[in-house]
Amino acid sequence: MDLFGRWATVLDELDGQARRRTFSGSGGIDFTSNDYLGYARRPPSQAVPVGPEVSPRSGRASRLLGGNHPIWEEVEDALADWHGAEAALMMTSGYVANEGLLSAIVDEGDWVASDEYNHASIVDGLRLNRPERFVYRHNDLNHLEQGLRLAVEKRRPGQERFLVTESLFSMEGDCAPLTELAELAERFGAHLVVDEAHATGCFGPGGSGLVDAAGLRQRVLATVHTGGKALGVMGAYICGCRRLKEWLTNRCRHLIYTTALPPAMGAWWLEALRRVQQDSAGRRALHAAAAHFRAELGRMGITAPGRHYIVPVFLGEDRRAMQAAARLQAGGWDMRAVRPPSVPPGTARLRVSIHADHDRQTLAAAASALAKALDFIPVNHVSGELVRSNEW
Ligand code: PMP
Repeated sequence: MDLFGRWATVLDELDGQARRRTFSGSGGIDFTSNDYLGYARRPPSQAVPVGPEVSPRSGRASRLLGGNHPIWEEVEDALADWHGAEAALMMTSGYVANEGLLSAIVDEGDWVASDEYNHASIVDGLRLNRPERFVYRHNDLNHLEQGLRLAVEKRRPGQERFLVTESLFSMEGDCAPLTELAELAERFGAHLVVDEAHATGCFGPGGSGLVDAAGLRQRVLATVHTGGKALGVMGAYICGCRRLKEWLTNRCRHLIYTTALPPAMGAWWLEALRRVQQDSAGRRALHAAAAHFRAELGRMGITAPGRHYIVPVFLGEDRRAMQAAARLQAGGWDMRAVRPPSVPPGTARLRVSIHADHDRQTLAAAASALAKALDFIPVNHVSGELVRSNEW
């Protein structure tokens, strides 16, 4: 079979499983994007400089070879200040930041514990240097402790231990027990790395994320933040100590061998940062909207795990999730299904993303549209355990 034949076989298989992915336009009210605070839809303010100083549309070269426009140092200093950290380092995306960070700090002989639901970019970052991996059950501190204990017992000379988690899980909508994870990491001598992709902008008094909100900044080796979600900009950054930044500047291939972000984007970052730091009202509106939507779902007899603005409604089979999404979209609601391999087989779901500017009426209407869209599922599947259960 030739290459195209091989692809055709796999794509046909995906069709058969209702797992084939295609691009589709966004139509209807946005309950799917990660624009939690609504920033991505607002035009840049006049305060964003567009003159020759920052307008170049291309980064032109790696930051180590002429791409280091001074605006990036300004952005990084402002980001580090926001987090009360020593340093921040811009990366081109959250995916690249996770893969670049983990492949630069974890060596072949090291040991890493990773939550089973960590994002693909964490999984891929850990694949690169092939450390010893311990994938612990989602947020299961006992399982993690068993792994850490064994790792310490069998420790090889020179081996370092790491613990990697998301803070707000992108597909589950629940939070990692960060304080307990920090305690375990310290007790067993592991370096804690936290992906704050979905929490950045939305938690803590200044919006800088769950690690800072829990007062754990000094207890983590690094946090990863992306601009593409609540901040409404492109790019990402890694936050940590000065030494970490020095190390990454010398060893992170995903920084060294790629073109810097365009300086114009640096201006957008400064604007997003100014906005988000002052936007307690946006954060309050976001959390209130999420609580309201969850309460409305509850009234319809639909339970969804988690507590925050990522609301997964478990449907189990891929086809069911696709049908529900299609019904919702036909009714003007942009809600999407998430299927394997993004989530484990048998746990296809609607991933509903609540935004600060969803008003109460819209949220109530969305919840009732969702309940109607689930009608095609036999009643015993819609209520109670089955909807809630990961195993279903
Ligand atoms: N980490 C998590 C938890 C994510 O959900 C995502 C995006 N889906 C990323 C990292 C990657 O971020 P970016 O979109 O900026 O590449």
